Amino acid sequence: MEEQPALGSFRCGYVALVGEPNVGKSTLMNALVRERLAIVSPKPQTTRRRTLGILSGDDYQMIVLDTPGILQPKYLLQRAMMRTVSDALAEADVACVLCDAASGAPEAARLPDAVRSFPRRRIAALNKVDLIRPKERLLPMMEALDATGLFDEIIPLSALAGEGVERLLDALIQRLPAGPPFYPVDQITEQPERFFVAELIREQLFLQFAEEVPYAVEVEIAEFKERPGAKDYIEAILFVEHDSQKAILIGKGGAAIRSLGESSRSEIESFLDRPVYLDLRVKVSPKWRRDESSLRRFGYRG
Ligand code: GDP
Ligand code: MG
Repeated sequence: MEEQPALGSFRCGYVALVGEPNVGKSTLMNALVRERLAIVSPKPQTTRRRTLGILSGDDYQMIVLDTPGILQPKYLLQRAMMRTVSDALAEADVACVLCDAASGAPEAARLPDAVRSFPRRRIAALNKVDLIRPKERLLPMMEALDATGLFDEIIPLSALAGEGVERLLDALIQRLPAGPPFYPVDQITEQPERFFVAELIREQLFLQFAEEVPYAVEVEIAEFKERPGAKDYIEAILFVEHDSQKAILIGKGGAAIRSLGESSRSEIESFLDRPVYLDLRVKVSPKWRRDESSLRRFGYRG
């Protein structure tokens, strides 16, 4: 095939964002692709599935994979979440390993084997530097990361404030292999709208409910209907593990579920850029987080 001159210097590839829970992977994903694709919450383990974002420039296409935080799995759902991480690394051309400067970046010392044995380029992103004063306090952390000998570059940044994100972007693009774009340049993700709708509801669950409850909920979009002359109709089922969790989600006189429905609908409408009718239902699916067939039904790979 004759080479396209315009594509001669084009780069295209996958970047996996990996690191411990809560270090800011999803926030960085959104900052890199400049879209709010990945859900973010102050609580660990908000991200359960791989989320894909695409950023296209004049001479590159970078496909970013946001992943769940690396942890020692205690039940089947967490094992499936860790599978997501190793699958993303298997696909990736570059591993972007995030550490949290605010926690002293101890993650560097216990990087899992999947990261250590990653056969291609690794870049470390030392995130949340906005929380560090004075800046000199970053130096020992940068040195500790450097001493691991695992990283091509170590970039301090704040995904939240946008500081250092451009520098990271350049470093990542430089390391993408040469090749034509995999996706149309105006495409920003490959996951369907219903995935993001379920994720936005989960985000509100993490923001509105305390303790264990959001961890025990899986959201399934049972119906997503476009209706001519009317708002889209979305029915979401919230699966919980116990009756007591169902009671908490519904709340006194249905107040909690109403408020969850309102805030979720407003987030979904701004994501889809059109009005929707959102119907939330709660069902009990005992021990779904530990049950292979429930996890399969929810689309997790064991
Ligand atoms: P993930 O679990 O690694 O995906 O982390 P999230 O992106 O969900 O972020 C976890 C928490 O850290 C959220 O409350 C974010 O707002 C916060 N966060 C992420 N990046 C930064 C940052 O650069 N600075 C500060 N101060 N907070 C951040
Ligand atoms: Mg996340």
